[in-house]
Amino acid sequence: MIALIAAAAIALGRAPTAISVATARGETTIEVRTGPAGAPLLPASALVGALGGTVRVSGSWAEVDIARQPFRFLLGGPFYRYNNRLQPLAAPAAILDDTVYLPLQFATEVLPRLFADRYRYDPAAARLSEAGAPPPPPPAERVTVVADRRDDRPRLPSGILPGHMVTIDPGHGGVDPGNPGLFFPRGVREKDVTLQVGLLVREELQRRGVAVRMTRTTDTLIALGDRGGYCSEGCDLFLSIHINSLPKRPGYTAARGFETYFLAEAKTEDARRVARMENDAVRFETETVAAHPAGGLDFILKDLQLNEHLRESALLAARVQDNLDRVHTGTNRGVKQAGFMVLTTARRPAILAELGYSTNPEDGRFLTSAAGQRRLAVALADAVVAYLHEYERRTGSPDSTGAR
Ligand SMILES: [Zn+2]
Repeated sequence: MIALIAAAAIALGRAPTAISVATARGETTIEVRTGPAGAPLLPASALVGALGGTVRVSGSWAEVDIARQPFRFLLGGPFYRYNNRLQPLAAPAAILDDTVYLPLQFATEVLPRLFADRYRYDPAAARLSEAGAPPPPPPAERVTVVADRRDDRPRLPSGILPGHMVTIDPGHGGVDPGNPGLFFPRGVREKDVTLQVGLLVREELQRRGVAVRMTRTTDTLIALGDRGGYCSEGCDLFLSIHINSLPKRPGYTAARGFETYFLAEAKTEDARRVARMENDAVRFETETVAAHPAGGLDFILKDLQLNEHLRESALLAARVQDNLDRVHTGTNRGVKQAGFMVLTTARRPAILAELGYSTNPEDGRFLTSAAGQRRLAVALADAVVAYLHEYERRTGSPDSTGAR
């Protein structure tokens, strides 16, 4: 709840002009600076100075150690890495005037969430306190930053405004079977499971008052370069559904679990492997290859720079991954970045979910069971609605395509 209030206040441009950081060693006031994109930022050196820690720049990363915990912030990209997980931020860390700045959100939301027994943020007082700090000053000195926003617009039972539309993309189809489905029932391939789950997601979203456009509803092949085009005018977001697999090698059936990707240059060897595998469908589309001669990394990176929806995609991916975690019987493999062609052509927030491994017996059973598919579909639909709801809270807009 604190996180939501703080996010709403930030979205409304009511971020505090300064926060105080209270520890057993004393209280420090840190001025909040407005970044290039209007996002509130804190000087990293002042924050680590107050909390005890270090900051240094290494390549394109700001390495920040707080409470003996290493955080890595991608400079210019709205992400941080902690515990080998890449997590989205409301704004990127940046170097301004030779000083490293971190998004205010790191102090007001991330630290209190990760270390709830150590840090507490009071949005009304704009005060981050460490366990053992003296009590806050009397209320008269406080600055109120909580937004009081009234919104009488009629809402759906799910809490979101009516009028949303999303595109669901069941991966592969037609002559492109996707992966062969080692532990699926005989004759069932990736393309069949993605379609089954995709149709269930449509049903669940429609039940929640969200309109759905499908890239396919039957066993047909849609060119990779065309799939994203299904999400342009009036479309809020694009969700591509896939099933993972590993090539035969010793122990390959042990890997299992789910991961959610948003577009970026693939960061790990495994993310590169998954991107190669999904991009490989291009070989089924002779015409498309000719139409997209620059289908390689250059194309993706160029597009990435133009992709104003990267941050929203990352937030959506985090929400989807969290919700899958509640229903999936396999491992949570995290939110990842990779260069999927299918995502480069979407002109809206776009993510790709790998719902499990067909090369793992337990995942194979879960993915092809009616109950498993329904649970996945409900989790995905709930995640989409939660993301849309969050988006509306942050922007006051029913439309995630609004000009920004
Ligand atoms: Zn696939």
